[in-house]
Amino acid sequence: METNLARLSESAHERLGDYPSVWFEGTWYRSADLRARAARVATGLRERGVRPGDRVVVIMANCPEVGITYNAVWRAGAVVTPVIFLVSAPELRHAVENSGAVLIVTTAEVLPKVKEATEGLDLPVFVVGANYAELEAADPGGIVERAPDDLAALMYTGGTTGRSKGVALSHRNLAHVGAASRKRSHVEGLTRGLLALPLSHSYGLLITVGGFYAEEHAPSILMRWFEPQRWLELAVEHRAQVAAVVPSMLALLLRFPLESYDLSELRRVYCGAAPLSPIVAQEFLRRVPSVEIREGYGCTETAGLISSQPDGAPRLGTVGKPVDGVELRIIGFDGREVAAGEEGEIVVRGPNVMSHYWGEESAGDADGWLHTGDVGRLDDEGFLVIVDRMKDLIIRNGYNVFPRDVEDVLMTHPAVAMAAVIGRPDPVVGEEVVAFVALSTPDAVTPGELTEYAKERIAANKYPREVHIVDAIPLTSVGKLDRKRLRAAITR
Ligand code: ATP
Repeated sequence: METNLARLSESAHERLGDYPSVWFEGTWYRSADLRARAARVATGLRERGVRPGDRVVVIMANCPEVGITYNAVWRAGAVVTPVIFLVSAPELRHAVENSGAVLIVTTAEVLPKVKEATEGLDLPVFVVGANYAELEAADPGGIVERAPDDLAALMYTGGTTGRSKGVALSHRNLAHVGAASRKRSHVEGLTRGLLALPLSHSYGLLITVGGFYAEEHAPSILMRWFEPQRWLELAVEHRAQVAAVVPSMLALLLRFPLESYDLSELRRVYCGAAPLSPIVAQEFLRRVPSVEIREGYGCTETAGLISSQPDGAPRLGTVGKPVDGVELRIIGFDGREVAAGEEGEIVVRGPNVMSHYWGEESAGDADGWLHTGDVGRLDDEGFLVIVDRMKDLIIRNGYNVFPRDVEDVLMTHPAVAMAAVIGRPDPVVGEEVVAFVALSTPDAVTPGELTEYAKERIAANKYPREVHIVDAIPLTSVGKLDRKRLRAAITR
């Protein structure tokens, strides 16, 4: 099986021919031009000393040059280190230094941060719209051979829970998830996609590589970043049929008059990366009846993919079944596999699991199982239900409280648009349950009323003793609830 990502991209071009494949901010980009530019940039990179295996940091908001650069780096046999453009300068410096990057590609608006982060490092920096053109001036070159286990990407995890680590993903890892996601998600004739997720996150990279397996023309409407009203306008204008989202995007879209947008062509919404509140899902389905929401699950350490909905109707409230080649077990506290229906840690093994953390030796335990740090259970038909993350668990008076349970209850209140629950260290109960809530209608409810509302619906040890009403819940760059910021806000 071919695993060299540059070759896979090349065969997609051969198979599909030239067509308008990416729409970005008013312009259609043709696939043959994108390919030709990538081939030239690959030579440009080589001429500037980028050798096979070298790391190239790519830090920019979505634009066609992200894909061009990824392909160019792979053609040159090098490793992409995508960094989300919203990171702080010290976080960027960590990624640059830790990866030992030899070159950086960025855009003008991120350049000041890049300069600050690389002070004293003497690294060549190429800026799209400026000296990036010098990389493109070269003659197109061939593709460097790579073995399946050679690295293709080094991705720094969100770091929402600590110091960011480099996840080393091989060509095999990414080729596997690309093929597996395509197999699960492709429906003939459903091709026009709306993409607002950051291409520098593992979810975006998965979609990029999935595109290498396309068997029919699949134009992407690419957004620089997600903006709900614009998303709706573009979905209508381009008659989008499929879209990839994270749950907070759906929650934000619900605040708009969805009924006044003609979304009748939109058939499938792929959702992952964070817990999807059942209320948000149901409300979205009620208001956009043409749609199916198909939830999947993955993490950076598994090249973005573990499970997704198999053929047939999606099973809401689950993240589907493991994709081809991926073994999955639920492990109890004693380290043994639990019975169906019981909760435990999700561990996975397969060709999607990273080779290692950069600078460390192996990925999983001795038998190659990756411990995800997520708690889940398998339902009676083998569909996976994510309970929550082990590291977000709140222990109050010795009882386990999963934030997701509390958030899901708060979300059922008609005035609540988004809820995030964290634990605050407390000398008496150990950790106190604290909720942050953004309202869909300002002043529609008080913190005390929300506490009462939750108290009537969940166990006495779980309901939030403290509710803060905020204008907006802070989100990470991929749109997850930013618990780190919330924790900082209450412990300050
Ligand atoms: P860090 O791990 O440093 O906090 P991060 O959360 O951004 O950063 P990712 O690898 O992007 O790192 O996140 C993967 C995690 O996202 C999974 O382990 C899981 O907790 C969560 N996740 C992904 N998909 C889903 C889903 N469908 N439902 C619930 N949680 C999900």
